Amino acid sequence: MKNQVDVVIIGAGSAGLAAVRQVKKRTESFVLINDGPYGTTCARVGCMPSKALIEAANAYHARHKAEDFGIRGSAGLSIDVPAVLQRVRSLRDRFVSGVIKSTEALGERSIAGRARLLGPNTVAVGDQQFEAKRIIIATGSHPVVPGPWRALGDRILTTDTFFDQKTLPARMAVIGLGAIGVEMAQALSRLGLEVHAFSDSDELAGVSDPKVAACLQESLSAEMSLYLGHEVDLSATSDGVRVQAGSVELEVDQVLVAIGRKPNLDELGLAELGIKLDERGMPPFDSKTMQIGDLPIFIAGDVNGHLGLLHEAADEGFIAGVNAVSDELTCYERRTPLAIVFSDPGIAAVGQRFSSLDQEQCLIGSVDFASQGRALAAQKNKGVLRIYATADDARLLGAEMCAPAAEHMVHLLALAIDRGLTAYDLLAMPFYHPVLEEGLRTALRDISRQSQQSAPPDLSACDSYQIVALD
Ligand SMILES: Cc1cc2nc3c(=O)[nH]c(=O)nc-3n(C[C@H](O)[C@H](O)[C@H](O)COP(=O)(O)OP(=O)(O)OC[C@H]3O[C@@H](n4cnc5c(N)ncnc54)[C@H](O)[C@@H]3O)c2cc1C
Repeated sequence: MKNQVDVVIIGAGSAGLAAVRQVKKRTESFVLINDGPYGTTCARVGCMPSKALIEAANAYHARHKAEDFGIRGSAGLSIDVPAVLQRVRSLRDRFVSGVIKSTEALGERSIAGRARLLGPNTVAVGDQQFEAKRIIIATGSHPVVPGPWRALGDRILTTDTFFDQKTLPARMAVIGLGAIGVEMAQALSRLGLEVHAFSDSDELAGVSDPKVAACLQESLSAEMSLYLGHEVDLSATSDGVRVQAGSVELEVDQVLVAIGRKPNLDELGLAELGIKLDERGMPPFDSKTMQIGDLPIFIAGDVNGHLGLLHEAADEGFIAGVNAVSDELTCYERRTPLAIVFSDPGIAAVGQRFSSLDQEQCLIGSVDFASQGRALAAQKNKGVLRIYATADDARLLGAEMCAPAAEHMVHLLALAIDRGLTAYDLLAMPFYHPVLEEGLRTALRDISRQSQQSAPPDLSACDSYQIVALD
């Protein structure tokens, strides 16, 4: 017999749980089905353990600046890698336990098992079937590992397996230098490992601005061997892995594969829905309602292959959850695009990226942090920040940066872009001295200088709303 429910949510990750929160406000008739470990990718094997590792790595790396600060004895510091990993796991367990409480609170409405679609209103899990008015697919993604590499067993790691390692070997290769690969490669290097980082493309961490990319490449090359632009081949040696790329051939003890993540759609039964999938096997969906075609089905989070970020997964779960229990679909504006890579210097992008700009129609303001006062005081004087604005009225369009405090400055820019502010509007704000944001102001003034308009000064005259620059 089929169980009748209003909504079936498949996947108890960040998107699925955000959907549950909305569904629960409007109906008690739902089930949440999850396969595999509970606790979300973000808390278990993603955002949080990676950041805990990065913090330990950066704390240890700080010893290289100690002598210049006048602090003696740093050469005597050593790292206890098993203790570092144990701390990462205990933090992870703390984050995960908080999430698990929310699924446990659902009682019988939380079902462990692999869900499969039998039709647009029917979901099977184990020997149960659910007939649902609406279905939300929030099944996440998994790390891609080419088939032949799997034969290398535990010499191959992904971020799904990495954090359960009790210790780390002396030599590691990181394959793939998107956001995750760059973060992990730098952290491993800063923990004292010999790191060889490979990517078949020249693009690092999604950075598209050539000046920002050059800065990132230079700073990564100072900490690890970088091999870009060649496909990688892996094979087993007697107790390690041989890595080949172009003319490079070397041996490492273990390899972290970070070449991308694939939506968990393969065995979900999308074929039963009678919709046309694209060449990647993805269903058509509306990113403002999360609805798949005109079906009573919504798709949220990493599984739709759209944005792959935690705050976006949570937003999509919210949208799917609201729409799954409403008669009329609500169309939601998505937030200003924002991405951060937790490297040092930090990498961040907001709004339009350099690669999507109409170069003829825009101004680019730059700052190099090499001589920036506060950055020098903190020995963080490395990095470039580039802001893009419209040529006619200096309206902020986007920014890319590899810069100190990037994670904070990019939020300020996100607010400005979201509110449709111009470079002049931002220049009218107070900038305290000495702060890293003064570097941001330098880039804004660079835009102001290039503008064909006669740039107003930073300070507004008492009787006007015009804004003028303090020179
Ligand atoms: C190493 C790493 C670092 C990251 N760092 C950041 C960061 O700093 N900032 C950021 O914004 N994002 C980061 N991300 C991305 C972020 O973690 C993801 O975007 C987010 O966790 C996706 O959430 P989700 O709900 O879509 O998927 P998930 O949390 O993966 O949830 C999907 C759930 O569905 C289950 N499932 C799969 N198939 C089925 C099925 N057939 N039936 C039932 N259940 C199923 C899965 O087992 C899983 O429990 C990082 C990711 C990684 C891997």
